[in-house]
Amino acid sequence: MGAAEVISFEEVRARKQWDTLRHQLHERFDQWLDTLETQWHEPPATLPEMTAMVWNLRQQLTGGITEAIVAHVHRDAHDRTQVNCPRCDGVLRAQEVVCRTVETLVGPVQLERPYFSCRLCRDGCYPFDEALGVVAGCKQLDMHQAMVHLVTEVPYDTAQALFRGLTGMSYGSERMHTVTNQVGEKLTVLDVAPSREELLRRIASVSAGHFRRPVLVLGIDGAYVPTRPDSAREPQEGRRHRRAKRARWRGQWRDAKGFRFYLLDGERIVHVLSWHQVQSEEQLGEALKQIKEAGLIPEDQVRLCVVCDGAEWIWKHVQALFPQARQVLDYYHCAQYLHRVAKAHYGTSVQAVEWVEATMTRLYLGKVGLVLGGLRRMQAQSDEAAKAIANCWDYLDAHRGRTHYRQLRRGGYPLGSGGIEASNKFICHVRLQRSGAWWYEANSNHMLALRCAKYNGTLDRVFVRYQQRLRETSE
Ligand SMILES: [Zn+2]
Repeated sequence: MGAAEVISFEEVRARKQWDTLRHQLHERFDQWLDTLETQWHEPPATLPEMTAMVWNLRQQLTGGITEAIVAHVHRDAHDRTQVNCPRCDGVLRAQEVVCRTVETLVGPVQLERPYFSCRLCRDGCYPFDEALGVVAGCKQLDMHQAMVHLVTEVPYDTAQALFRGLTGMSYGSERMHTVTNQVGEKLTVLDVAPSREELLRRIASVSAGHFRRPVLVLGIDGAYVPTRPDSAREPQEGRRHRRAKRARWRGQWRDAKGFRFYLLDGERIVHVLSWHQVQSEEQLGEALKQIKEAGLIPEDQVRLCVVCDGAEWIWKHVQALFPQARQVLDYYHCAQYLHRVAKAHYGTSVQAVEWVEATMTRLYLGKVGLVLGGLRRMQAQSDEAAKAIANCWDYLDAHRGRTHYRQLRRGGYPLGSGGIEASNKFICHVRLQRSGAWWYEANSNHMLALRCAKYNGTLDRVFVRYQQRLRETSE
């Protein structure tokens, strides 16, 4: 007799248990059919009528099925009669069975579980809830996760309406605010950054079939975010449902400083990592340092390149952390300086336009020396022109080594910082700059961190962390 024909005791037991569950699920389905039957006096005729009928009753079915599965899987925890106190380790005996109904995306699920309490510690516990991974509050994690997916895209009020429409469950706007801020709280750049393995995978997909290592671009920039002071919060407890009154505070546009790593694949950008926060330049530098020290950037497998405008603080961090990286001064940013010179020197004449075009072309061809010489020879006709020329000269001279645009183009490096500007737009502006929206600084940072996680592909991991935190706080 071959080994394959031996049916083990384990297999028999598993089979039996499955049959039991199957029977229980059939019972649930029968109960659901009873409900359906009560509505059958007006049978649906069209497909929309039929789907509407099933839609309205579906949570009773799916919630009921889940209930049966929960009871089956955790029957040991349900039948438990004694447990050790998590604090003093004394033996506790099961007291009454307490029912609790939780809300999930598949409908309400009723849980029946024994309650244990310790007289010494004056504390009670539900080991069943812990085994099941139930979180405090009515709404469970799947609902929180769906809600956060919505509110990170659209305003809270819209999210509330969409949530109800799409899931058939309600989720209050205030609760949405609270949970979103809890999920986004204390997230660091490492919490939302993809893993090194994931980064290597993206690099490999871009490298395939190419001789040269791919260009990994780092862009650093600021985006404006409308904020309001913490003093705008309602001081009295219990009046939280009332929004801060407009007259009591003044909104302020703050700089959300951020960076983005992305790969170049021909004309295409492959996103790698974004991090934006309303923060100081030191904090941004610290976040970059964490990325560097965590070894997330495989510098030996890419050609790292940093594209920025002229801001000194940016280059300071780049120089300290990625001294090997190719540095590029944003080509289009140079145009602003040249336009100022042209306007001051040539006014609004055709000559002004021609001069800017010719100078931009020289820069494009990598002839920054010629451009600097030309600026030097210009005979300023006014103080304003002299100042503009001097400014432009200083700027180009200071960043001379970052303007080898001809070489850069040949190497496949980008000339402009469009990648970080796009990140400013799709992470910061799209969600935070809405008419009438003024964000508390902390909340704006929670939202930014969550949106970064979403685009970095790490939002699921953020939820695992949130679940762990909820467990730790409930212990
Ligand atoms: Zn105890």
